[in-house]
Amino acid sequence: MKITNEILEAHLNCNTKGLRKLAGESGTKSDYEMMSTEARQASREAAVAKLVARIPDASRGVPVTVETLKEGKLLLADATLEDEAMSLHLEALKRSEGASKLGDHHYVPVLHVNGVKVGTRERLFLAVFGLALSGVQGFRPAVGLVICGPEGRPARVELDGKLYGQAEQALGELKRIQAGGEPSRLVLNKHCQQCEFRQRCHEEAVKADEISLLSGVGEKELKRYNRKGIFTLTQLSCSFRPRRRSRRSPPLEKRQHALHAMAIRDRRIYLFWGAEPPRQSRPGLPGHGRAAGLTDKPNA
Ligand code: SF4
Repeated sequence: MKITNEILEAHLNCNTKGLRKLAGESGTKSDYEMMSTEARQASREAAVAKLVARIPDASRGVPVTVETLKEGKLLLADATLEDEAMSLHLEALKRSEGASKLGDHHYVPVLHVNGVKVGTRERLFLAVFGLALSGVQGFRPAVGLVICGPEGRPARVELDGKLYGQAEQALGELKRIQAGGEPSRLVLNKHCQQCEFRQRCHEEAVKADEISLLSGVGEKELKRYNRKGIFTLTQLSCSFRPRRRSRRSPPLEKRQHALHAMAIRDRRIYLFWGAEPPRQSRPGLPGHGRAAGLTDKPNA
């Protein structure tokens, strides 16, 4: 399959999701995902319509080719960019001054965001569009534009070398998989809760004894464990070493992932240093009196 917006978005959320979408697979979408897709679509339509209404010299639904860009229209809305590997839909392209293969002008990508915040993922999306656009106009735009919400409030995003580097990496990874390259490991992440493949991935993770089954293990920690040769929950559970603590010991890490893994492996509850079971229940709380040998039943 060609790389589309949906595949790109899936890949930016999770490598495994991108891979599955690229293979043409689909799962069971949650109500939340369907509702947010619908809301985003409606907001996008309204914002693009407003943008087109504001600029008189605008065209809609044009293919992005050297010929169409050379015409020099101020705005190209709902543009499609196709090559042998990609089929991208761009909300709009805006003309900007500055020499390129097209002449004395070039185009910058416009992205719709259904919210007020322009996050890393949106910036990366714009950089991928800029990268794809540079293949046609022979010039990498230094900025991208964002239109926010149904009102289409404009914002400007600098597209620097670092962002383009990340975009190249993301596109390169997708193209590598597209060409039949080895897929990356399954790693559960915070997008899983709303992902259509969550059931399947969870089952696969349990089967593979994945460390990412532990909530709270971030990407950095996972890499750190992998560097030490720890790839499964069982391996992680064996790495727990309780140490004597003194007053001068550094503060404890909030989460002891190895201990957590050990508790899961042994199906037991472990209490770590500093955790003390309550000695006496407090008045007003359910069960008060039991600790003192009393029961809730009168005359018992
Ligand atoms: S469930 Fe999680 S790991 Fe699986 S594809 Fe979705 S986001 Fe990725």
